[in-house]
Amino acid sequence: MPVYRYEVKEGVAGCRHCQNGFEVTQSMRDDPLASCPECGARIVKTPVAAQIGRSQSKLDDRAKEAGFTKLKRLGKGEYEKEY
Ligand SMILES: [Zn+2]
Repeated sequence: MPVYRYEVKEGVAGCRHCQNGFEVTQSMRDDPLASCPECGARIVKTPVAAQIGRSQSKLDDRAKEAGFTKLKRLGKGEYEKEY
């Protein structure tokens, strides 16, 4: 099931749960949440496209941390170190 990220609406104080955003696993048929389950503050869904970009860069960071070197193939037998 897809995971959706929610954050408290701008200008609303919220609580510890929703202030920094939280993730909810929901079926695509479920209605999106409108309020924080903890404090009832108005929340908004963060765009899915942003989530994909974020998790992709996180994956790259993790590979970097683990000491992997990402190689870009330049041509026959030639590689360039991307980082
Ligand atoms: Zn809250």
